[in-house]
Amino acid sequence: MTICGTDTARTLACRDGNAATTLKLISMFVIFFTSVIGISAPVMLARVFHGKPLYDKVILVIKCFAAGVILSTSLVHVLPDAYDALADCQVSSQHPWKDFPFSGLVTLVGVLTALLVDLTATSHVDGYSHGHGHGHGGEHGEKVGYTRIGEDEELKKTTVVEIEVVEAAEERRRLKEEEMVKMKQRMVSQVLEIGIIFHSVIIGVTMGMSQNKCTIKPLVAALAFHQIFEGMGLGGCIAQAGFKLGTTAYMCVMFSITTPMGIVLGMILFSMTGYDDSNPNALIMEGLLGSLSSGILIYMGLVDLIALDFFHNKLMSSETWLKKTSFLALVLGSTSMSILALWA
Ligand SMILES: [Zn+2]
Repeated sequence: MTICGTDTARTLACRDGNAATTLKLISMFVIFFTSVIGISAPVMLARVFHGKPLYDKVILVIKCFAAGVILSTSLVHVLPDAYDALADCQVSSQHPWKDFPFSGLVTLVGVLTALLVDLTATSHVDGYSHGHGHGHGGEHGEKVGYTRIGEDEELKKTTVVEIEVVEAAEERRRLKEEEMVKMKQRMVSQVLEIGIIFHSVIIGVTMGMSQNKCTIKPLVAALAFHQIFEGMGLGGCIAQAGFKLGTTAYMCVMFSITTPMGIVLGMILFSMTGYDDSNPNALIMEGLLGSLSSGILIYMGLVDLIALDFFHNKLMSSETWLKKTSFLALVLGSTSMSILALWA
């Protein structure tokens, strides 16, 4: 059996269970409040600008910042953590794990799964509008047949009615399309929330299990900013998707309590097992789930957020300054989240 890592004098001096517990309790409150601030800021901002002419543009810029945060979360936080978990000497000395780069493979599976879900959802939408169009065509034919029998007066009336029918159908189709776009945005926000929450729970559990007061102290500040940026990323998507107030509140609360809950879970795990480093099975689970959620987040960040906003948004293609501002927001979001990877 391989012996993995030894405690140096410095880490031994830092081991202080009581000081660590106090720090964890403080950090639970700090992290909860910063999460609430982070996720509600874009939601509030969207409410303030609601109905104003700038609304769509503000939402778009927030969304691009969010896309940057999410892309950086997946590439700079979740994926390297997953690699590390599987590269841990307890795992990488075992049989299948040392033979193949599993994190990369599972990330790929995540990307392809996200694409498959996207394709299935979109083909459903296409199928619906196609069928709808056919139904309308049949209706139209009947009307024409009827007018041929009728008199002049009757013909005029029917034409007017027909135009109204066509307009109403057009309006219905447009509303349906808008509804579908909103539905897609809601689905994307929910999947993003799950992906981001996964990372929040992991960092919470890691902190909760740690008995090292020297590493917890800087971690509290880092996690506070971490939750603010991730919250803004998620909040930006939630704001655009236009959920009902109850659902918005539920999603915000869920995001805000996950890291504190993770800390509690980590503390329980430590008190039960007495070990502050994870066992190989937990590391394997963390590595595989992390790779999978990272793949999903990468796909959604690039395809559902960035490509959709930069190439398929009419607002964006009409104004150059908006494109520049959005790109800057994207870079700003990725940079700030990437810098945080120094600590957590
Ligand atoms: Zn992180």
